[in-house]
Amino acid sequence: MTFATLPIERLLDGAARGQTLGRDEALRLADAAGPPTEALAEAARARRGAARGQVITYSPKVFLPLTNLCRNFCDYCSFRRSPGDEGAWTMSPGQVVEQLERGRAAGCVEALFCLGDTPESVFPAYRRELGTFGQASTVDHLAWSAREALERGLLPHTNAGILDAAAMERLRTVNVSLGLMLESVSERLCQRGMPHHRAPDKRPARRLAMHEEAGRLRIPFTSGLLIGIGETTAERVDTLLAIRDLDARHDHIQEVIIQNFRAHPRTPMAGRPEPDLDTLARTVALARLLLPDRVHVQAPPNLSPGASQALLDAGLDDLGGISPVTPDYINPQHPWPHLDALAEACAARGLELRPRLPVYERHLDHPAWLDPALRAPCEAARRRLAQVRHPRDLAAAAASRPAQASL
Ligand code: SF4
Repeated sequence: MTFATLPIERLLDGAARGQTLGRDEALRLADAAGPPTEALAEAARARRGAARGQVITYSPKVFLPLTNLCRNFCDYCSFRRSPGDEGAWTMSPGQVVEQLERGRAAGCVEALFCLGDTPESVFPAYRRELGTFGQASTVDHLAWSAREALERGLLPHTNAGILDAAAMERLRTVNVSLGLMLESVSERLCQRGMPHHRAPDKRPARRLAMHEEAGRLRIPFTSGLLIGIGETTAERVDTLLAIRDLDARHDHIQEVIIQNFRAHPRTPMAGRPEPDLDTLARTVALARLLLPDRVHVQAPPNLSPGASQALLDAGLDDLGGISPVTPDYINPQHPWPHLDALAEACAARGLELRPRLPVYERHLDHPAWLDPALRAPCEAARRRLAQVRHPRDLAAAAASRPAQASL
């Protein structure tokens, strides 16, 4: 009997003990007619427990949506704007500093820079606005903003959509990690009538190429899978396996976000059904079983209100970036749950919620993965978080750091 033809119980048992699953085994587990969700989740919890004990992490962050101008049109997106649209913005240097100061005062550790894809390639008005800030490009603005964050003891993590190697190499010197959701390897979702049809930067080959480049540049990297936008179960499996293969080649994937589609008003997919909690829980559990233990599995709790315990039960080990001071600008209708409530949800399951840095120990403790200039701010943030026993201690720990750190 081969591993592929094992009874499902033995397949689950092997996965729970860390055996690597091939595509056929993964498809058997993912299939709705396969194991019940609780059995998948139980195996995922066992795997998590063996690798991480009882610890669930989150990153206290301040969110800086540097610009919502974007050259793509994803059918589910309520964030993107073109210049002149109602609600279009680009953060000025003054606004960046103001937001960073709020994050610093609240005890945040991560400064998350998130923005639309390559706006300067299509919007001359945006290029002119950058010029008024004294910046020649988005990457200039990002690099300046990241340095401002570091000076305040905040550790930058940037998701700026597709970046080329030169841009990543530059941002690597002022970011402790970078990110890009792979979202899906499905070419089908890029066809006419599908959600990525008008989004050239969502072509799987482009996103896979950036993941490869980040690995070659030794950048700790966050990826993710978006579910519920029309993909098949097999396409979900293939996306997770593609991320696993990338990590196997480069050792750089620090975490994988399992993000569920939410239908936003005034978008082409406003009336589309959202994935149910069972689908999300199955996918989280599957991710835990397919990915190596060193890769953290995360799901945003604000996109599944009231379901934090179900997500914990599905085997995730990280709740992602949670901000005590800024909204989720990408999903503005979905506020983050209060950190106290998340700590209680963890405690109810015998788990402990702990803050973390936006770069994990696996990369932090290896010199090749971090620019030398970032080591001191990371160590200072690590010492600060060591004082935090409960999320409510964050602001007090922040008060103990110097007003401005030097780079
Ligand atoms: S999801 Fe990202 S790439 Fe797509 S339109 Fe929105 S901001 Fe642009």
